[in-house]
Amino acid sequence: MSKQLVLTEGLKKLDISYSETQLSKILEFFEYLTFKNTQVNLMSKRDLERWDEFAKRHVLDSLSVIPAIRKSIGMEDISMLDVGSGAGFPGLPIKLFFPNLTTYFLEATKKKVDFINEACKEFDLRNSATIWGRAEILGHDSSHRGMHDVVISRAVAPLRTLLELTLPFCRLGGIVIAMKGKKAIYECAESSDALLKLGGDIETVTKVSQLLPDSEGELVVIKKTKETPDEYPRRPGLPQKNPY
Ligand code: SAH
Repeated sequence: MSKQLVLTEGLKKLDISYSETQLSKILEFFEYLTFKNTQVNLMSKRDLERWDEFAKRHVLDSLSVIPAIRKSIGMEDISMLDVGSGAGFPGLPIKLFFPNLTTYFLEATKKKVDFINEACKEFDLRNSATIWGRAEILGHDSSHRGMHDVVISRAVAPLRTLLELTLPFCRLGGIVIAMKGKKAIYECAESSDALLKLGGDIETVTKVSQLLPDSEGELVVIKKTKETPDEYPRRPGLPQKNPY
């Protein structure tokens, strides 16, 4: 299989158009991240051993949220916040294919924020900004609270905790997309109190494998239906220690 085939097949399934430049940029990004990861520990080395695995598990998986965004909100003039981006997932692959999207990356670990900043420069990704900090604090900052159309997060916390770290950033009528592993439905079942308190409704739970047969992930789309009360998010650590 040619290097790009694994990617282009997935992009077609997701109905994402692409240029040759974007394809080479994502390959360059893989090499760039692999190199940076030898200098600073950004993610597991195993995740970067093989391009085709990386393309599936990180690039296509990140892009698997696009059909859900198109369906609920549309892709025009929207602001997206990636909470707990780590080395930039899912935000960076999304930004590489949708350069006009206004994208914010929130991450608590400085070295990862530095990497995302460098990558944005290296790949000329404009209309993007990083925030070094914690969701529990930034969630009270008026420049981000209630300001984003889409808040997205992968592999950060169980759903009922994650709702407290994401819903405050979402505008009314906007969506949170929680990128979960298998059996997200159980996480949904234990999230009813959190949804009620924080002002969200589960819109859909979808298996990524419907579009990408190799994927095991599930996407939970939550619509913000009521304003989040001022007291949320609670102080750092509490949403994790004492979730609703
Ligand atoms: N989303 C990435 C990284 C997942 S690891 C991926 O899927 O590959 C979880 C990341 O979330 C870590 O980098 C951690 O520093 C960050 N994180 C966890 N809790 C956070 C919080 N409360 N505020 C901001 N970042 C947080």
